[in-house]
Amino acid sequence: MGKTLFEKICEKEIPADIVYEDDQVVAFRDIAPKAPTHVLVIPRKPIPRINEAQLEDQALLGHLILKAAEVARSLGLGDDGFRLVLNNGRDAGETVPHLHCHILGGRKMDWPPG
Ligand code: AMP
Repeated sequence: MGKTLFEKICEKEIPADIVYEDDQVVAFRDIAPKAPTHVLVIPRKPIPRINEAQLEDQALLGHLILKAAEVARSLGLGDDGFRLVLNNGRDAGETVPHLHCHILGGRKMDWPPG
């Protein structure tokens, strides 16, 4: 199977504005931001979406969520708030089949989302 777009970003085969990375996750700015701050945090492991994550991914996913909050704070979103979003499947608007957590912040968000 070919690499996903986001695997290519992890491996620096295509450029991205990376704001954080470690041995398990990479965070980079979304190419089409939907808020003043819009960053994607992805596992290096190409899990297609949360619906296909396994029990063995539990520690990785915990790490990813904690890092998303840390990245949000590092980008100045800690005080006013931010939203973390996982889009799973067609109805949710998922477009890239490599699990990614959106960090959205820098403006007031509506609820419920559209
Ligand atoms: P989703 O709709 O939840 O699957 O989110 C996929 C996100 O990836 C969208 O917000 C896109 O703007 C973003 N995206 C697609 N290609 C790139 C890229 N090359 N670099 C950064 N973000 C990207």
